[in-house]
Amino acid sequence: MNNQCMVIRQFSNTLFFLFLVPLSIQAQGELSNIVILATGGTIAGSGATSTSSASYESATVGVDALIQAVPELTELANVRGEQVFQIASQDYTNERLLQLGRRVSELVKSDDVDGIVITHGTDTLEETGFFLNLVIHTEKPIVVVGAMRPGTALSADGALNLFNAVALASSADSRGKGVLITLNDEIHTARDATKSINIRPNAFSSPWGPLGMVVERQAYWFRAPVKRHTVHSEFNIDEIDKLANVQVVYAHGNLDDTLYKEHQRNGAVAIIHAGTGNGSVSSHIFATVLGISQSGVHFIRSSRVMQGGFVLRNGEEDDDANGWVVSHDLNPQKARILAAVALTQSRSAGDLQRIFWEY
Ligand code: ASP
Repeated sequence: MNNQCMVIRQFSNTLFFLFLVPLSIQAQGELSNIVILATGGTIAGSGATSTSSASYESATVGVDALIQAVPELTELANVRGEQVFQIASQDYTNERLLQLGRRVSELVKSDDVDGIVITHGTDTLEETGFFLNLVIHTEKPIVVVGAMRPGTALSADGALNLFNAVALASSADSRGKGVLITLNDEIHTARDATKSINIRPNAFSSPWGPLGMVVERQAYWFRAPVKRHTVHSEFNIDEIDKLANVQVVYAHGNLDDTLYKEHQRNGAVAIIHAGTGNGSVSSHIFATVLGISQSGVHFIRSSRVMQGGFVLRNGEEDDDANGWVVSHDLNPQKARILAAVALTQSRSAGDLQRIFWEY
């Protein structure tokens, strides 16, 4: 049996249920039009056996097979799919982010599209979600979804995650809340959600908690994002040709200054310092990073603290005197996305700091 057949068989174990669904559900009002943009990842992955839950190949199953594997989607919406990429998400370059963003931007402008679902690898799903949250001008729901187990595995989570994502994307309550992420029945804002555990299906968490839950196709909301996003953003994908080259350096007590110098030499316009604790900077690299930032490469202090690193401006380091920026509560990978977008518009540290407070 080939991989796609295995996925369909695995996902279709509830197929019989389709015949039991009362016609009244399908007849309720007009269904929304949802486009599923498939980009690869474990949700489109397949393993050699049903017990290969953590060793498998990601990005092997095409969008049509993904949709066919969850026939219950037709109860929720008129769904159509497009294959944008077929990649593992560690391969999301800036160019791919822009390509996906441009396609989302085109689609949301169309009257016959009510919402978008993006299937994505989980490794960098938080970055793509946050990027779209910053640059797509729409109130229409955009939901990014992944899975932690391939469709061929026992207890695969992709089918229900996809069902929940389509339920969210077709719900009027999801409008205007910015880009959303759903896995494991939870709804997160793409701004906050981060992959905080691997292998397990509860991989995503938000330092300030999820926005709500999706249970049996119904979304239950408990809070809404307060930071600027989508229609309230000053950034617009339609005006961005190229993202800025921003790199991340992961700090530890014995870190030397080689990477900072290399990134400067290679043309980085900002370096995110994934610092210890409150984004602190070791005394033995201080002179180098100060020199690099004075030469015009922005130095942005973030924190390597996993669950809710919060960097206080002028706490531990004198950011005002040094001309540095703090990432606020954004983790290093999200800080990289915000800086890469922000630096397409302004090169001033003051603006950059304002943006880190507001988004
Ligand atoms: N490496 C995979 C990816 O991000 C993992 C996953 O999807 O869970 O594409």
